[in-house]
Amino acid sequence: MNKTVVPGAKQSPAGNRPEPRLKQRTAFEEVNYHLERAFDRLDTPGPYRGILKNPYREQRVQLVLHRDDGRTEEYEGYRIQHNGARGPYKGGVRYHPSVDVDEVRALSSLMTWKTAIADIPFGGAKGGVCCDPKHLSDRELEALTRAYLNKIDLILGPQRDIPAPDVNTNARIMAWMMDEYGKRHGYTPAIVTGKPIALGGSKGREQATGLGLYHIAKQAAPDNKIKIEGAKVVIQGFGNVGSWAAHFLHQAGAKIIAVADADGAIRNDAGLDIPSLIDYVKEKKSVCGFPEADVMVSSSIFEVPCDILVPAALNGVIGVEVAKKIRARIILEGANNPTTPEADEVLREAGIPVVPDILANAGGVTVSYFEWTQNLTQFFWEEEEVFSKLEKVMTKAYHNVAAIARKEKVDLRLAAFILGVRRVYEAMRLRGV
Ligand code: NAD
Repeated sequence: MNKTVVPGAKQSPAGNRPEPRLKQRTAFEEVNYHLERAFDRLDTPGPYRGILKNPYREQRVQLVLHRDDGRTEEYEGYRIQHNGARGPYKGGVRYHPSVDVDEVRALSSLMTWKTAIADIPFGGAKGGVCCDPKHLSDRELEALTRAYLNKIDLILGPQRDIPAPDVNTNARIMAWMMDEYGKRHGYTPAIVTGKPIALGGSKGREQATGLGLYHIAKQAAPDNKIKIEGAKVVIQGFGNVGSWAAHFLHQAGAKIIAVADADGAIRNDAGLDIPSLIDYVKEKKSVCGFPEADVMVSSSIFEVPCDILVPAALNGVIGVEVAKKIRARIILEGANNPTTPEADEVLREAGIPVVPDILANAGGVTVSYFEWTQNLTQFFWEEEEVFSKLEKVMTKAYHNVAAIARKEKVDLRLAAFILGVRRVYEAMRLRGV
């Protein structure tokens, strides 16, 4: 569970001297903290605050897996549908040992605001299985995936809830999900997005989140007097999001000077050779040992002075102490919920703008929307068309959020939440909720 420490004050038992009180804030509470700021600005009526904060439906399922060595194990899975006012629930499925109900809840809420900000006709959902896929064979991974899909089958549907990949899940896993769903419901490619192209996946889905981040960087850079060409970039996480963001930023002339993954970090102040690094990681499964770079301590990745910092790994990685050491001119959140509210405050005071996750990484769900549309119509688009439509969505979303930030004199995160809440609240009101 992602917990942060919030200092408060209470009477000491010995007398009237206040002493620090340590209050744990969970990932879901962190998202709600941001929402409350938006509600206050918008004067959202009391009862709606709870309705907008809390998920519509939470499903916890028990999964039984027979391991290759004959052992039988029990796993916990979740599917949480947060808000469906603007369209079918939509959100990825994460396989990770840290998955729990609170984390999935938080991520499902972020999806509601993200789809609203990108203005695509979906609600928000998220799924997860608490497991370490690194320790599962291919057969075990497939069996666990099919078991999970079977248990949540009843609440899914192309007009109801559409899963997608997230951390440690990919196109192959989506193919198994589509196949399993099809056994009961017939051929239904629109049941999941992020599928292999041969099974109805969209061209450009794999690149989408990293490419979307790049489009946001292109828009945010001039607002912060940064030129992408020659800009120094630091990236934490070199999976789908981090590596594609690196690819497009590098292609535009930026210098990626440091990269970290779960196994370690590397640095080259002259700029890493990103195409070679991507090939290297495909083969070695890690950035560690890349020949044309120095090794650095992973925990100091956020301290490297740079123009653009991209957290693209897990949530909760930028806490107060990390935030105090950040020497970036702007932060683009590729990961979901990487910055705690207290760290956000530190960054605001330091004058470091943060382009929030619900705007910066919306490229993935946007191309998922394109994939779903192509599956429903069974008419497929060329990559060029996908990319140009993605650029339009991301550019418009950035300018809508930036305009609110300027008008209301607030940071981009609050502006993004204001836009998301406005749109979802309006949809609920029109439906007569
Ligand atoms: P991924 O599994 O492809 O890659 C994750 C990367 O993070 C890997 O390089 C891994 O080694 C690294 N990592 C894990 N723990 C780390 C640690 N402690 N320190 C440094 N690096 C670490 O996952 P992804 O799809 O790239 O997703 C990354 C983030 O982006 C997640 O927060 C996810 O929710 C978010 N996101 C993903 C998408 C998408 O389309 N894939 C869309 C929106 C948001």
